[in-house]
This record gives sequence, C-alpha cells and structure tokens, in this order.
Amino acid sequence: MKLNLDIVPLSSWLATGKEPLVISGPCSAETEEQLVSTAHLLAATGKVSVLRAGIWKPRTRPGEFEGIGSIGLKWLQRAKEETGLPTATEVATAKHVEEALAAGVDILWIGARSTANPFTVQEIADALQGVDVPVLVKNPVNPDLSLWIGALERINRAGIKKLGAIHRGFSSYEKTAFRNEPMWDVAIQLKTVAPELPIINDPSHICGNRELIPYVMQKAVDLDMQGFIVESHIDPSVAWTDAKQQLTPAALAEIIDKLSLRKAASSDPLFEDKLAELRKKIDVLDNQIIKQISDRMKIAEEIGEYKKSNSVTILQVSRWDEIVQQRVKLATALSLDEDFTKKLLELIHNESIRRQNEIMNAKPAIEA
Ligand code: PEP
Ligand code: MN
Repeated sequence: MKLNLDIVPLSSWLATGKEPLVISGPCSAETEEQLVSTAHLLAATGKVSVLRAGIWKPRTRPGEFEGIGSIGLKWLQRAKEETGLPTATEVATAKHVEEALAAGVDILWIGARSTANPFTVQEIADALQGVDVPVLVKNPVNPDLSLWIGALERINRAGIKKLGAIHRGFSSYEKTAFRNEPMWDVAIQLKTVAPELPIINDPSHICGNRELIPYVMQKAVDLDMQGFIVESHIDPSVAWTDAKQQLTPAALAEIIDKLSLRKAASSDPLFEDKLAELRKKIDVLDNQIIKQISDRMKIAEEIGEYKKSNSVTILQVSRWDEIVQQRVKLATALSLDEDFTKKLLELIHNESIRRQNEIMNAKPAIEA
C-alpha cells in the first residue's frame, strides 16, 4: 500500500543548507529572557535551523505548568527578529492555529496527544483550510500507524502540502530505559507507505533523559530520517517542564558534531558496483530460502497426511522442543541471535501446523 499524499519536498520549504536539519529550543517558553537567550545560543552554534518552543502545553495532570499562553508568541517573534531563526510551536485547537498564524509562527506541529484524537486533528485541519503553512504531525501516544496516517491525511486534505511527520516514540505500560519506546519499525512502516514524506526524529521525548539522546540520534541518522526536533534550554536544571531531557545549546552542538552522517546513496561508481554485487548475492540467497521453506512445507503436508491415516495428533510437543533446541544450537554456533532464531522457527512451525490442520480437517468431498 502506498499513501496518496499531495505534498511538496522538504527542500522546497525548509532549505537550510545544513546537515542534518535541526529544530531546537525549549520544551516550554517560560520567560522572555529564557526563550530569547536560548535562541541566541542556539543560533550561535550554527547548527540549528528552526527555533521551537511550546506555548500551550498539554499536561497529563491538571495544576502543572500549562504553558505561558499567547504572550509567548511575542517572545517567539522577538527571538526570530534577533536571531533570524524561523519558529515552530505546537497547536492543539483552532484558536491556537489562528493565534500562531497571526503571530507569524513559521511551522506548526501537532502533539502526540492531539494526533491520537481525530476530532482534535479535524478541528486543526479545518482551521488550516486555505493556509499555506508547514505542519509536522507527531506520532500518536499509542503505537497505531493508522491513527498517525489518518492525522497526516486530514491535514493534507485541508490543503497543507508542506507536510512532515515527527517520530517521538510510543508510551508503554512496561517501564524501559526510554520514556517512550521508539518502536522504529512503526516509523519505518510510515516511510515505506509514504516515501516522500519527511520524518523528523524527536530524541528528547523518546529518551526522557539526556544520556540516551546521542544514541537515538545516531540511530535516526542510520535509518535515514530527515532531521531532528530536540529540546534545549539555557539552564535545563531549572526548566519548568521536561527538565531531565533538555540539553544546553552547547551540549546539543557537541552531539551533532559527533554524529556520523551516512548517505542513502553514493555517487562513487565503484561503491555502486560493489553494492549491486552484494545485492545480487542477497537475491540468490533469498530465493533459496523461500524455495527451501516451500519444500519444508510440502514435507510437513506429507507428514500431515501420514498422521491423518494413522490418527495421530498434529502437535507433538516433545518433537517440537527437540527441533527448537537443536536448531538454536546450530544457529548460535553460526552467530545467529537466539531470540531471532526462535521467532523464525515459530513462524515456520505455525504455518506447518496450519497446513497440517487443513489436511487433517479437510471436509469430505460431496459426492455428486
Ligand atoms: C513537546 O514537544 O514538548 C511535546 C509536548 O511533545 P509530545 O507531543 O511528543 O509529548
Ligand atoms: Mn517536552
């Protein structure tokens, strides 16, 4: 399946000339001084292309700091005037959209909690009708690709062609090292169905701490994501929101410097030749694997016939345990991951059982 999005390339609306594209700034605009001074430090690094700041903050519990509100839009304007950085903020209602546009905010984003609610997304989309402003859509809090796609489609149908996605990870009940599990495969699936859609990585909300940010950013580069939205603060230790995950502008610059940027393709013909040769080998091996799996299924079916004529059950647990043990031993000796091997065997085994089941429970042919 490919999505039918009517979009224009990122380079036509955010030509930064910088690699990678970095949007940065505080989680929340707190005071004029905090926002403007952070913006100056970010601009001075020469590595940041857009200033972000939350003006309206969606908070999980009431009573927490819910954003400075409309007054912060003036601070964003001042930061832009003084640094030349275009600005970005989160919008969650039609009123936010109107106010942000009136204040000249350059890029709008839809937060994870809003993306999860089609009513909210539609309200924002309706407010965007006839407006030419770039919009970035964060993934919903839950790992539901359709919900993410649905939000992108609603905004696109409102006529927004300068469209992008933000991958900020997914909330999970189990506590892990991440604040929000990256579940990279969901972002990759979006990339597969919408190859033209830029995906920007948000390491801050994935990690929830500063320590893991370099690791997540490198992984995003390796997966060919189109840029970053990272939280930074002049003094993270006193930040009013998300203090643990914000970086000083200097720390951010250092992380960006250390990234090893890789290209999706090379212009070196020798590299291309070598790549083509290796890909041919992969093609041959894939074909062999599929052929062998098919042969294995045929034998499983024969076994099914045999079990049927001897009235034996399909699943014999001891035989299956023995298979797993032996194959995992071999796989480990051949440097394959144990967990991967078990999953692969299980997949094959499930299909064998399904086929044997079909044979053993085949409906008798109705005699004419
Ligand atoms: C944010 O970017 O500050 C924010 C609230 O993020 P999210 O919507 O991803 O939680
Ligand atoms: Mn935040």
